[in-house]
Amino acid sequence: NATIGILGGGQLGRMLSVAASRLGYKTHIFEPGANPPAGQVADRVTTAFYDDEDALRAFAETVDVITYEFENIPTSALDLLESLRPIRPGREALRVSQDRLTEKTYLRDLGLTTAPFANVESFEDLEAAITDIGTPAILKTRRMGYDGKGQARLKTAEDARTAYEAMAGAPAVLEGFVDFSHEVSVIGARGVNGEVSCYDPGENVHKDGILDTTTVPARLTASQRMDAVLLTANILNALDYVGVLGVELFVTPKGLIVNEIAPRVHNSGHWTQNGCAVDQFEQHIRAVAGLPLGDGKRHSDVVMENLIGEDMDHLPDLLADPKASIHLYGKAEVKTGRKMGHVNRVQGASK
Ligand code: ATP
Ligand code: MG
Ligand code: MG
Repeated sequence: NATIGILGGGQLGRMLSVAASRLGYKTHIFEPGANPPAGQVADRVTTAFYDDEDALRAFAETVDVITYEFENIPTSALDLLESLRPIRPGREALRVSQDRLTEKTYLRDLGLTTAPFANVESFEDLEAAITDIGTPAILKTRRMGYDGKGQARLKTAEDARTAYEAMAGAPAVLEGFVDFSHEVSVIGARGVNGEVSCYDPGENVHKDGILDTTTVPARLTASQRMDAVLLTANILNALDYVGVLGVELFVTPKGLIVNEIAPRVHNSGHWTQNGCAVDQFEQHIRAVAGLPLGDGKRHSDVVMENLIGEDMDHLPDLLADPKASIHLYGKAEVKTGRKMGHVNRVQGASK
């Protein structure tokens, strides 16, 4: 049976491995860190850095197709891997999403609404950007930021120097602060033959910059829900995408504003494990393996709650809760801010 290579061995890689296994595939994880969560469930793990060409080549030769759970894979590694096996989603999705400036420009050029933004590579750039965009605003590193890391908020122009210094010289983008009522995301999928399937949008609440809960259905009007799904399909088609993609949106009285995209399965899609017949992990494996997509229809209303760091202290209560579907990532050490697992609570059949 075919083997799916997965770059990255975190919880997303772990849940992708489980889904692949259920469909009869083997998985081989490539991960620089020791004892990755995915390593406990995958058929094989390579522990090596992305500059180890021999390890990359040996990895590629054991797999039929390569996917990833982590978008910040170095370009040199992708070049080598791509010469040996198909990478899905393809390089365009990675090129666009590895850099916030490229990403925001791409989304705006597709005709979608983004927050106003400007490139910041010097303090003078930042001053000019503040003049253009105004405050409040958020300065974000262009590369590698996640869970709100690599961001500095500017209440007024007086915060410019502190915010600039927080970037430590890294290229950044300044974004105008969006006065949203709430945040939603769409998890969409596209198959090798171009078919598209989107899950119902989820409503996301963040705590300390990290996703805390996702609730489906989200509070959206019928036309907002339609818009959210159509714009996701638009992005999937534009990128000639294969796999699952997450699209984060701000809901405002003037319409939906695209915040960012993630070219992979997404934390805000974990509710699909208990709300749909085919969850986002299986959907992603189906797409990258060239199988037909599953039905993304939601059969139940769900609240997903992340278990972060010390939330694990409540595990005994969760285990006693008959409504809690518990998903743990097998991480040995509890650390503040570390995603340890999540809980899905089915609220009842969807109407
Ligand atoms: P993730 O873990 O989702 O990848 P990230 O570090 O890439 O996070 P963003 O998603 O850009 O960061 O921002 C994190 C959160 O900060 C958003 O979900 C939103 O709550 C808030 N935020 C980001 N940009 C803006 C903005 N322009 N206006 C208002 N709030 C914002
Ligand atoms: Mg992000
Ligand atoms: Mg985000």
